Amino acid sequence: MAKPNQHKNQELKCSFCGRPESEVKFMIRGLYGAICDECLIQAHEIYERETKKEEKKAHLDRFKDLKPKKIKAFLDQYVIGQDEAKKVLSVSVYNHYKRLYSNVMAGDVEIEKSNVLLVGPTGTGKTLLARTIAKMLDVPFAIADATTLTEAGYVGEDVESILTRLLQSANYNVKLAEMGVVFIDEIDKIARKGENPSITRDVSGEGVQQALLKLLEGTVVNVPPQGGRKHPEQQFIQVNTSNILFVCGGAFDGIEKIIAKRLNTQVVGYNRVKAAEQVDRENIMQYISPHDLRAFGLIPELVGRIPIVTHLDPLDREALKQILTKPKNAMIKQYQKLFEIDGIKLEFEDQVLDYIVDKAIEYKVGARGLRSIVETIMTDAMFEIDKYKDKLLITLDYAKDKIERNNAKRLKFI
Ligand code: ADP
Repeated sequence: MAKPNQHKNQELKCSFCGRPESEVKFMIRGLYGAICDECLIQAHEIYERETKKEEKKAHLDRFKDLKPKKIKAFLDQYVIGQDEAKKVLSVSVYNHYKRLYSNVMAGDVEIEKSNVLLVGPTGTGKTLLARTIAKMLDVPFAIADATTLTEAGYVGEDVESILTRLLQSANYNVKLAEMGVVFIDEIDKIARKGENPSITRDVSGEGVQQALLKLLEGTVVNVPPQGGRKHPEQQFIQVNTSNILFVCGGAFDGIEKIIAKRLNTQVVGYNRVKAAEQVDRENIMQYISPHDLRAFGLIPELVGRIPIVTHLDPLDREALKQILTKPKNAMIKQYQKLFEIDGIKLEFEDQVLDYIVDKAIEYKVGARGLRSIVETIMTDAMFEIDKYKDKLLITLDYAKDKIERNNAKRLKFI
């Protein structure tokens, strides 16, 4: 019987490229044809490419129906107030993942990624916003503190360690990590001191800025999977940062003065008076621009890589009160759930909530301190939980008693 692709006295040929058996390394025969080693390699490459595409598409499908309003609605469930920041963040997250999803090349225009900077006092929800975005997208999330970062070779953490954390949170799935969200806090603390770079050059701060710049721009980084330099023998994992969304945060203490100065000097003559009238002096942060960040001491290249800047407002009494009860996983709801498991309906008098807020303001602990205050009030009740049946009402007297008697001193140091 004749072999496939081989007539009498004829050499076997590859059904794909047509080369005869004598010109290739080997040939695999099938029922109806044959394939040479080179075509086999090519076929394998096509297979790899296509399955990777499929895999990537499966990962990206979660971003398909993303719309800015939908993102904001999700943020609203967890973060109180901060409407402007939520709006700006929603749009940039939408654009970022749209770019990722469609890998868009509109003509010659490649959509650049848009890292975001959140400027606002500590404890106003910057980390919470970034964390909630990652939760919504179901992507890996990592937090880094810019103040602990140093240039490679110095004591402190290398910038790559940020990606180690991201990899860990992705369970070492590199593809997933590469579409994650990284929050870099206290970015203002690595600013160069002083506006004039040639006089007051703060080399270490600038070095960290340079190192961060590379990450933010998008590059392939060799990441030590266990982090640190303690394991010099560890193999590096390569992580491409081009599709990682970086959200930076910082309080930028004193930047109001820079903004105000710019607003005053920007316009001259007749228009100046008119423009000054329109400026809302009470809320100067809303005018923050990349220019102010440069004046504050961030290097222009870094500012260029974080083109989207928005601000968070200080939390007022009403916002603090809402934080206690409104978010999906609000503190009060969490305690109620804890008690519910034991069959007890836990309630708080409304004045108790006001009292908690008063204490947070008095001790200057902001939203971050609310938990310790509530915990101080609730510890005894939780300890004696078997004493209660069906229902427990936390009254103002009870709350005051717990705070004043037990832990007032400790709370001041939160
Ligand atoms: P920072 O702005 O310093 O990053 P965080 O986001 O870490 O502040 O806030 C600390 C904690 O305070 C949060 O975990 C959350 O419990 C609470 N919190 C702060 N701001 C808000 C907010 N706007 N809405 C709801 N909770 C908030």
